[in-house]
Amino acid sequence: MEIFEEIEPLRAFLKGKREALKSIGLVPTMGALHDGHLALIRASKAENEVTVSSIYINPTQFNNQADLDKYPRTREADIKLLEAEGCDVLFAPQNAEMYSENQSLIFDFGTLDKVLEGKFRPGHFSGVALVVSKLFNIVQPDMAYFGQKDYQQFQVINRLKEELKFSIQLRSVPIIREKSGLALSSRNQRLSEQDKRNALFLYETLSEAKAQLLNGASFSKVRSEAEARVKKYEGVKLEYFELANKNTLQELGDTRDFKNGILLIAAFVNEVRLIDNMLLEVE
Ligand code: AMP
Repeated sequence: MEIFEEIEPLRAFLKGKREALKSIGLVPTMGALHDGHLALIRASKAENEVTVSSIYINPTQFNNQADLDKYPRTREADIKLLEAEGCDVLFAPQNAEMYSENQSLIFDFGTLDKVLEGKFRPGHFSGVALVVSKLFNIVQPDMAYFGQKDYQQFQVINRLKEELKFSIQLRSVPIIREKSGLALSSRNQRLSEQDKRNALFLYETLSEAKAQLLNGASFSKVRSEAEARVKKYEGVKLEYFELANKNTLQELGDTRDFKNGILLIAAFVNEVRLIDNMLLEVE
């Protein structure tokens, strides 16, 4: 695997690939890689001749300094995993390579980034859009791969692509979970075994809610039950639990437009903030 920390040598390398008509797939990550990330690498390898993964903990998307400071950094293990997966290129820049000292660009996605994650993490999606725009410009991939785990992020990046006319196909890869149902996340490394059992609140709430909604229950009832149930999970604090339109991410409330419905949840397990989601997918 070729490893680049600087933009220009990476550009030169990829120019050669493009001239040889190789298709390029991009998998952006913040490292601390797990099977969820590797599923994106596999999806890219299946469709492209060159797969570029990036590992960059993007400071502008963190609205909480402690979360940024404590974000797991496992560079050597990440490199081994990427090599074992046959990833062709790793781009792992330092902050000075990605941002000027007086960076001040801001993105605004209207109603899309004011709800859910955007509501609780102000500025988060502006930072995501900024770093993804930079990566798209640097790598100029044919295709880029993202996880359904960060569902709102995918919708934001899709809007970014439409507005900035990026000629890149976006792919969304299903959520990879532990056997228990817990969605894989780099932040899970910060959970104890007991925390992990309590973190199952997210997946259990989504699964239970989906079953109940399809059985005729209203979302208000389902949500109040979840709010009552969370008390049984020690150290878990529910931040939001919503039923939304899967394209606009605006609340569906009790409208029962389930073919367009997605359940989304965020909760703290002690200090660690986790998110998960589940499409209702009624045929
Ligand atoms: P991150 O390193 O957390 O920024 O994630 C990098 C990419 O991996 C994003 O597109 C995530 O949506 C995706 N991802 C993270 N966790 C999972 C998972 N459990 N299953 C599938 N994709 C994931």
